[in-house]
Amino acid sequence: MPELPEVETIVRSYRPRLEGRRITRFVSRWAKQAEPSVAAVRRGIVGKRIGRLWRRAKFIVANLEGGRRPAHLLIHLRMSGRFEWADDRGREHRHIRAFFELDDGNRLLLCDARKFGKIIYTTDFEAATRHLGVEPLGRSFTAAAFEKRLRGRARQLKPLLLDQSIVAGLGNIYVDEALFLARLHPATRSDQLTTEQIRALRTAIRTILRQAIRRRGTSFDAVYPGGGMKRYLKVYGRTGLPCKRCQTPIEALRIAQRGTHICPKCQPTNGKQRT
Ligand SMILES: [Zn+2]
Repeated sequence: MPELPEVETIVRSYRPRLEGRRITRFVSRWAKQAEPSVAAVRRGIVGKRIGRLWRRAKFIVANLEGGRRPAHLLIHLRMSGRFEWADDRGREHRHIRAFFELDDGNRLLLCDARKFGKIIYTTDFEAATRHLGVEPLGRSFTAAAFEKRLRGRARQLKPLLLDQSIVAGLGNIYVDEALFLARLHPATRSDQLTTEQIRALRTAIRTILRQAIRRRGTSFDAVYPGGGMKRYLKVYGRTGLPCKRCQTPIEALRIAQRGTHICPKCQPTNGKQRT
């Protein structure tokens, strides 16, 4: 699933051809993806101009201009959604679930093999995104705020960091990488961390996300090609390979039903670091 760095990369690469364009037509071939409904999305977006294109958590957000009140189009790619241009040469456009036609004649396709993607039209952005937690690269993700959120819960770090209502935008890859960088075991309970460990975890999350954005995210099969982060990953997808720091083989575990990768030496269960 595309996580924050992949969605940020998609936004940056599509921004030049989308910002300022007027949407002239919207067609959906998978009604369940549209909220509140295909008709409502069409009524809301056709004729509107795309202002700023940006990201909130794992949502691609388009500010819509030209209506009586502020409106937004939100797209969540979920498991397998991806954008393609209809005129992309050499692309075989499969699983087209929706498309947007623009006033410059271009057609943006939403392709989605597994059909979990969402297209949401809203005139109440606040309400539509109220369930989302803090942006980890934003100013409000301070050490003090993070400490408060962690101490207020007694949950294992892995599921807690995957919970979009706490820190928004992280998924399996970058949670595993951030925990390795902070040298924390993913089963550690959030209320048992020292202030120093919380600061290290916050720094690790920001560092890993910034690195991944710089490398255009992590590629995984045809859903998200072109990212360069994969060879810099330290634990995710490296089961059995030597830890890049201490040479101990990386282990795969299941924590809260999620496949998890750790170095057992760098990330001991008691939370204390071995050297
Ligand atoms: Zn190690």
